[in-house]
Amino acid sequence: MDAPAATTATTATTLAQLIVLLLWNLLAASTGMKHAIYSQVLFCEAVIEALLSSAGVVFAPGLFAVLTAASPPALAYFKSLPKHTYKIWGVYIIIMEKAGCKSRGYCGSGTAWLRGLITRWEDYDNGDMLPVYVQKSLDEGYSITSKGLLCWAPIPSAVMVPVIRVLFVALEAVFTFVFWMVNTKKTYSAAIWRICPWSQDTLEWDGLCSHSSLVELPRQNIPGLTPAAKQSIDKETVTRSLEWVTAYRVRQNRYKRESRARAKAADPIAYAQAAIDQQARFFSTIEDPRAYQNAVVSKSRAKSKAKDPHAYAQKARDTQKGFRAKQEDATGYGRAISQRCAAKAKAEGTYRCIACNLTFSRKPGLTRHNGRATHIAQVSKLARQA
Ligand SMILES: [Zn+2]
Repeated sequence: MDAPAATTATTATTLAQLIVLLLWNLLAASTGMKHAIYSQVLFCEAVIEALLSSAGVVFAPGLFAVLTAASPPALAYFKSLPKHTYKIWGVYIIIMEKAGCKSRGYCGSGTAWLRGLITRWEDYDNGDMLPVYVQKSLDEGYSITSKGLLCWAPIPSAVMVPVIRVLFVALEAVFTFVFWMVNTKKTYSAAIWRICPWSQDTLEWDGLCSHSSLVELPRQNIPGLTPAAKQSIDKETVTRSLEWVTAYRVRQNRYKRESRARAKAADPIAYAQAAIDQQARFFSTIEDPRAYQNAVVSKSRAKSKAKDPHAYAQKARDTQKGFRAKQEDATGYGRAISQRCAAKAKAEGTYRCIACNLTFSRKPGLTRHNGRATHIAQVSKLARQA
């Protein structure tokens, strides 16, 4: 397999930073393997960091050392994970063992509204709605020997439930791939394999997760829902999550605007210089700024065309119409000025032939007249009389 994701581990200096990087890498590597909601909510590294902190996510002790170690953790680490369940959501690891067989691990998340993680953990105790391969292992004589938490947070407020659930299901996916708790019969891309920092052959466990948790819209398992009720909950998940994203963007933009205004007020010259420097720095990294600008424009055009070809075509027609109208306006304007000048010139006798007593509105008229036989004859007639 490929080299371990050493770059990921070495650039992060805190556990939160490391988790953000791992999650960001996983989202990038999950092309065609994730529900759109993840890219829409977790759209940049900063938003993941902000969500981790506003949700109050706490990670298991020793996790940073485990994730940055050269070799994978021993099974004992998972068995030593915290096991509290009171009013929290969590991402957990289940260990299954059977005498004389390789141990098995499953990574999941418990995000039930009202009671939280405990709702899901009771399912394991009662044997309800178990993951396929966990159930299969039980049938094969394995037993669940440990349930432990990798991370947890207080149950969020109602308004934050959809967006924090997106975060938790994403964290579940991260830990599933980091600890490679996937059923290896499934094939994943090299980029996904690299999320696990160790060679998969060196792990003390086999995985029991059948698929990436990112493929579906995040949901809690509520038994007995009618399809209509399920649909309306899903719709609300999306709407609420996107509302949060919009509010976040508005907040961020306001913050940026305000801090720019403060900097400008404090020292306008330094502020302007910094803006110029920033732009210069940016363009110095680009070989051909004009080609770059053109590429930006084409890209944005292609994007809006792909988004709505009809609206794009209509906009192109409108633009062309507007351009033509402007051109006609300009022609009309020019003509009006020209006529006004001509009338004035005629009134003032600017272009006048004294010999023939003729006034022209424009200079070319007088020039043409001066070359005509009648004018030449008149001039010589006057010369003879003089
Ligand atoms: Zn004349």
